[in-house]
Amino acid sequence: MVLCATGAAAQDSSFLDATLWVQTSVEYRAVAKQTYRAAGANLVRAVRDPQWTAALEQEGTAMATLPPAVVLDLDETVLDNSAYQAQLIGAGKTFSDETWQAWVKEGRAGTVPGAVEFLKTAAALGVEAVFITNRVCDAASLEDATVRVLQLHGIPFQPANLMCKAGGSDKSARRKAAAAKYRLVMLFGDDFRDFVSLPKERDTLEGRLEMAVARDYWLGERWFVLANPMYGSWESTLSRSGRAKTEFLRK
Ligand SMILES: [Mg+2]
Repeated sequence: MVLCATGAAAQDSSFLDATLWVQTSVEYRAVAKQTYRAAGANLVRAVRDPQWTAALEQEGTAMATLPPAVVLDLDETVLDNSAYQAQLIGAGKTFSDETWQAWVKEGRAGTVPGAVEFLKTAAALGVEAVFITNRVCDAASLEDATVRVLQLHGIPFQPANLMCKAGGSDKSARRKAAAAKYRLVMLFGDDFRDFVSLPKERDTLEGRLEMAVARDYWLGERWFVLANPMYGSWESTLSRSGRAKTEFLRK
């Protein structure tokens, strides 16, 4: 693997390790599998409790009569795009919309360990899966690359429950729309924004931690977080601060 010889060599090296951790380590596989298995083991309890919801957008609403559903992000939660990251490293490039769209069209995304088994368990229990993704896609088209890749992996879904990016990337409005149809018993994501909407003034390290701590008791019960060391809003939160990343190291 040849890294970009100029500029951000240290950054490339850490990106390489993050991608290799996802692609080769038994530890990554174990983290993903134990997350989905823990969720599967808890699903019957979640379904039986008519007051159980995992969505902040649903709290306080009449939900007892709604059918249960689980909500999942797609990229790095259900779909594994680490090969795209590997392509970037090989080419000495960083993320761009152009290369990302080309990757999506290829339809070669794999699946995160444990995800497909969990989705089959949910379907067997009569629990719908709602996918809220920031991919630009057309859920009603059989030609759509995201629809095709879900079908390729035997992932059951209804077109109405594949909620593609519409307008902004914030997912709260789509969770709210799903909460009108279903009791949302579990949320899955690799990014904190898959669980809560962050107002700009609170989207800082301190603000995010405060919101996370307030819902600590839902972790591993209603909220299930997949590991993604390659990219995410955790990283952009640091970059946006205007401080050097090394300043955040605790020694
Ligand atoms: Mg994701």
